[in-house]
Amino acid sequence: MPVWLRRTLIGLGVFAVVAGGAYYWFIVESRMPSDAAFALDIGEIRRMVAAQPGDKPASVEVERVGAFQFPATAIVAGDGWGSRDMPVYSFRLVYPETSIIVDTALNEELGQGGLVSFDAEAYARVLAAMSSASLIVITHEHMDHIGGLTVHPELEAVLPSASLTREQVENPARSAPARFPDGALDSYEPLEYEQYRVVAPGVALIKAPGHTPGSQMVYVQKANGEELLLIGDVAWHFRNIELLRERARLVTQFYLNEDRTAVFGQLAALSRLNQAEPDIAIVPGHDAGVVDGLLEAGILTLGFSVE
Ligand SMILES: [Zn+2]
Repeated sequence: MPVWLRRTLIGLGVFAVVAGGAYYWFIVESRMPSDAAFALDIGEIRRMVAAQPGDKPASVEVERVGAFQFPATAIVAGDGWGSRDMPVYSFRLVYPETSIIVDTALNEELGQGGLVSFDAEAYARVLAAMSSASLIVITHEHMDHIGGLTVHPELEAVLPSASLTREQVENPARSAPARFPDGALDSYEPLEYEQYRVVAPGVALIKAPGHTPGSQMVYVQKANGEELLLIGDVAWHFRNIELLRERARLVTQFYLNEDRTAVFGQLAALSRLNQAEPDIAIVPGHDAGVVDGLLEAGILTLGFSVE
């Protein structure tokens, strides 16, 4: 074999090994780190909720405002290049006299480029529901969860009902392209809490930084005893919990700048919870199958009942 051919073949071989390794590392690899840990004490959360008197939510309504589409491996590393739906939801906890909004979706402009569908009527109902809500919380400071708040046409009137955490307010870059108007938060006093915080009868926040610094889960106990755990984007699909697999590293490292080990700990804790308490409805941020199943079971109700 001529020397030049030998060198070329060796060069190609080295390239193939490096490229294959990089592909595996950034697209496929998703092993649970040995130091991943997260404390999710459902007994303690239930005790805290039980100690808060008052009517619990009679129903939990959901709006599907639009949908993104991602390659499967972006959602669950190693799942390949087929496309998967990523619907964008807003939830409304309905009390006899009042209501709470969990996540505010986004408008069409904020989702431009990524949205494959947008329901303007659903979005209008989310805006109206925010105006009449006594409390607005968001699972985390990403544009598809906080965006409906940042662009609300009556932000000044709505903002006092919004209970954003310090971590959510102090990391505005995470919300891009959503952003509050200049000065809107100047006198805003964010919520500060340690691990868990009951914010209304039947509703507790669970601090869960990792996907973003301001990520939290929202535990909901309905008046009829049904329990939901709105986990935001700790998992995009339930499959992340089922398989204990994270998003592809390309996504978590370069697009999200995630604390991957923290998210893995949360996935493991949610998997344990699901095994111990299968009746608690764990609701990932963008899983149509889960939401459709809960609608069918009557645990969720489709559409916000607002004028
Ligand atoms: Zn999201």
